Amino acid sequence: MNRREFLKLSLGAAAGTALSSSLLSACASHQLLRDGAPPIDELIEKHARVMWVAAHPDDESLAGAIMAKAGPRLGNALYMHVLTHGEGGDCLIPEGCHPDVATVRGEELKQVAKLYGATLEHDFYWNAPLPTETFPPRQKIAERWVKDGGDPAAKIAKSIRTFKPDILLTFSPIRGFTGHPEHQLASRFATAAVRLAAKTDPAAPGEPYKVPYTYYCVNKYWIYRLLGISDPLPYTEKFNARQPCIDDLLCIDVAAEFTRPHRTQANDMGAVRKVAKFIQFIYLRRTDPFTEIYDPFEPVEHGGMV
Ligand SMILES: [Zn+2]
Repeated sequence: MNRREFLKLSLGAAAGTALSSSLLSACASHQLLRDGAPPIDELIEKHARVMWVAAHPDDESLAGAIMAKAGPRLGNALYMHVLTHGEGGDCLIPEGCHPDVATVRGEELKQVAKLYGATLEHDFYWNAPLPTETFPPRQKIAERWVKDGGDPAAKIAKSIRTFKPDILLTFSPIRGFTGHPEHQLASRFATAAVRLAAKTDPAAPGEPYKVPYTYYCVNKYWIYRLLGISDPLPYTEKFNARQPCIDDLLCIDVAAEFTRPHRTQANDMGAVRKVAKFIQFIYLRRTDPFTEIYDPFEPVEHGGMV
């Protein structure tokens, strides 16, 4: 992923203010509580099976506290379905990336998945190369993905039918946490997959399965809201990232430690570990993919980070 902008802002804010753990908290008035769904903490403590769907090999670092509680702390079943190998990103390993960036990042993610105790499904969809200004419009990336590798929703639906998650987590379909169009697409294809997996007339193999709880992990941190670049969708609940996890570490600290295998992304991951000290909550928006539909092919006018 390219979260450089996100991290620079976070670190800049951290350095420029004396606010401590409240630094990256969101405004309470922005919360929209929904009736009828238990808190995600309660679901996880009842051993919910958790599935993460993302575009890039290091995206889990931004939602890792939740998975750290589910997997390492409680031993719940975890599954990661990641669509690209991040070959468009940096290679910051001193000895270089051999035979190529995609292969090395694939190995890095295998190590991370192992730390979380997660089953990993890792596809080879195209990853737009840096710089971010040259990213094609979102729908063009969607078209390329389908043309090159087939419908991502069908692949994710297959994972859903195999794993049968109680909870599916992904980024938001509008800004995708950082503005990366591939985050938005992973989200849009993931919710399309939730619908597809539930169909009785299957396009994916296996028995129909309906995911009970789908959440977007949303960026509601105040610095981004102030700058008008936070996720526009309101959050429905927040997960306390600073609860005890394993080895006397908080869940956010476990997630930070588990970024270390992403050596190709050393700068971003170092920044993630610094920002983690200021993170109190992971903001979530519960969504109903059957009524809130975001088309992966919905046109946007320009490329870049949107
Ligand atoms: Zn990413």
